[in-house]
Amino acid sequence: MSNESRQQFSTVIVGGGIAGVGLAYYLAKQGETSILVLESNELASGCTQGSLGGVRQQFSSPAEVELAIRGRKFWQTFENDFDYPCPYYQDGYLLVTGKQETLTALHAAAQVQIGAGAPDVEIIGLDRIRDVAPWLNPDGLLGGSYTPLDGRFNPTDGLYGIAKAARKLGVEIREHDAVHSIVKSGSSWSVEANESIKAERVVIASGLAAPEMAKPFGLELDITPLWLHCGYTTAVAVGQPMPLMIDLDSGLIIEREGEGACVTVSDPSFGPGGKNAVMEKFAELAEHRAPVFSEVGMRTTTSAPFDATGGDGHAYAGEVENGLWVFAGFDGHGTMQGPALAEMLANAMAGKSDPVLDFAMFDPRRTPHGKEEWIRAAKA
Ligand SMILES: Cc1cc2nc3c(=O)[nH]c(=O)nc-3n(C[C@H](O)[C@H](O)[C@H](O)COP(=O)(O)OP(=O)(O)OC[C@H]3O[C@@H](n4cnc5c(N)ncnc54)[C@H](O)[C@@H]3O)c2cc1C
Repeated sequence: MSNESRQQFSTVIVGGGIAGVGLAYYLAKQGETSILVLESNELASGCTQGSLGGVRQQFSSPAEVELAIRGRKFWQTFENDFDYPCPYYQDGYLLVTGKQETLTALHAAAQVQIGAGAPDVEIIGLDRIRDVAPWLNPDGLLGGSYTPLDGRFNPTDGLYGIAKAARKLGVEIREHDAVHSIVKSGSSWSVEANESIKAERVVIASGLAAPEMAKPFGLELDITPLWLHCGYTTAVAVGQPMPLMIDLDSGLIIEREGEGACVTVSDPSFGPGGKNAVMEKFAELAEHRAPVFSEVGMRTTTSAPFDATGGDGHAYAGEVENGLWVFAGFDGHGTMQGPALAEMLANAMAGKSDPVLDFAMFDPRRTPHGKEEWIRAAKA
């Protein structure tokens, strides 16, 4: 391939996270042959790497439930479809609360989920909580909602599997190649990175960096980093079921990880330097809610920010100027839903509408009307 042809692409995607790589894959699957992904660091080095990989149907707006259903199918069948090792652990997903108003809201959300076709949503009381999470102390809780078919996967493995499939279809991926500017150049675009690249279409899929990158085009994307500090414990409650559990009142999150667990407290008041405070808060909350954790040690800890969105809670995906697109801001559930939205976006780029969802709802230029989606992995 000549130098000149490598500096000209039909589509340049900025960002090698689940969004950018997922989109590259679906565009290539549709037959596009000239796609470049530019990643400033390494693949999966942004939010995607930090993700807990949780998969849940439990949302409160029909659109998010629809995307979650598609996302779950994608990850359940991923190993087979992509012939790449990335197991789906069907541990289930459990949201609990001791507040009547939150339980009422979970009831309403369950109706939305059932209406949108989620097959396994249960509103549960304390006896059932004891069955599905025997290590959880239900004292002070009123109930929760539970989806046994939900689970988790390893997002970094998943992203590498998608990248491998994309490369096979001809997608070029360049790492350590940061984009410094995107400028209109006649009827196409000029992307300044390690080299100057021409593209008919540019997609800003740079996660937390997307708002800054989109600003010159008059966009105010409401995407902000919300830090999660996670601890990975030694073996705990071995042999007992451990769904991904979120206590919506305290922000306590516990997820199975090997024979141990990944634990955190999601509370917006803990900032980037809050790791020790979060681990102390976890110990304090677990003493009552999950006393079995008093016996375990932390093998390691991690800190990463997720892509919290304001407004209506939906992602930003769509064209903002002729040939310039945005695909970012998943409010902490992009590894689950990213591929489903990427497929939808690739279809939209090809002029195909979605049979269920109105793509306009993700318009990056929209003015969101209120908080349509409220269930996020954070203290309510
Ligand atoms: C701790 C944590 C837990 C999470 N848990 C879950 C979960 O359980 N389930 C779930 O579905 N989601 C979860 N998420 C959210 C999920 O990880 C994100 O929604 C998703 O990864 C977003 O993907 P992305 O591709 O938009 O962003 P990213 O993965 O951040 O990718 C963007 C990429 O763009 C690159 N980039 C930035 N600027 C430039 C530039 N100038 N030039 C080139 N490249 C650039 C970055 O290096 C990065 O690799 C979690 C996130 C975190 C941090």
